[in-house]
Amino acid sequence: AKSHGGGRAVAHRPDLDTAVLTSPALAARLEQALDAGELEVFYQPVVELASGAVTGTEALVRWRRDGALVPPDEFLPVAHSTGLVVQVDRFVLQRAVGQLTAWDAEGLGTEGHYVGVNFSVRSLERRGLVEEVLAVLGAAGLSPARLLVEVTEEAAASSAAVRATLERLRAHGMRVALDDFGTGYSSLAYLEQIPADVLKVAKPLVDPLDAEPATDHVLRALVALAADCGLEVLAEGVETERQRRRLLGLGVSRAQGYLFSRPLPAEEARGRLTAYPEL
Ligand code: C2E
Ligand code: CA
Ligand code: CA
Repeated sequence: AKSHGGGRAVAHRPDLDTAVLTSPALAARLEQALDAGELEVFYQPVVELASGAVTGTEALVRWRRDGALVPPDEFLPVAHSTGLVVQVDRFVLQRAVGQLTAWDAEGLGTEGHYVGVNFSVRSLERRGLVEEVLAVLGAAGLSPARLLVEVTEEAAASSAAVRATLERLRAHGMRVALDDFGTGYSSLAYLEQIPADVLKVAKPLVDPLDAEPATDHVLRALVALAADCGLEVLAEGVETERQRRRLLGLGVSRAQGYLFSRPLPAEEARGRLTAYPEL
């Protein structure tokens, strides 16, 4: 879904083209940014479709560079190729866990409100990752069940070592979500082998629900397959009321998207942690 496709991405994304040409400079700037505290975390609520209750949030990194807010797609490819993404992931994990603890202390969110954190394949390949995550949770006094580890199906399918790490995280009580599901190639073949709890259905599969009549054959099949595999389905990129209604009809339990809220800074997200009953 993202900028993984080499030639295609460069051909269609002039902004990315620049990023590729200046990648050493960009990497150096990012390294400084990590030290200077220029990275921030935004939060997007995850909503239970039937009740409108907010069951959690997803933590999404942002770079405040010279006053402008740089989205992750513009610096994560470079962060990934240089390995800096490990520091980015670690920063976001620490910040998100701290935020959840702060919200808990204020009595915000529903019982067991969780935070979803994106883990790159680089992070998952690191020795000691599981212990590090447990230490961060332990220091904050948070139960591992409060963390949803989000990995792309591409990352999860990449190696047996990554899958073993996911197994271990789950054995310690964390939940694992397969991110961007339905946009890769290996989807169905790997679904049974990947240790996961949640299937995050990518926006391209949600978009056609707006058509009249809706084209929902793939989504329908995925929901059935997920149920067979014991996975909960979470729809991403929900922007319209019609999509929400149809997802509910298909048996999708949770969703996130602009219909409910854009990703927001912690202070603004704070006011969005209660239910969306008006929908
Ligand atoms: P993702 O994990 O699939 O995150 C969802 C993306 O969809 C976010 O983009 C979010 O802002 C956007 N989104 C949410 N709802 C809607 C909607 O209704 N409509 C539309 N058009 N977009 C919506 P964002 O924040 O730009 O992040 C892009 C990607 O960067 C993320 O995709 C994730 O793969 C990656 N990422 C973000 N933070 C981190 C991080 O801390 N570590 C790592 N490794 N990757 C991260
Ligand atoms: Ca994600
Ligand atoms: Ca996603």
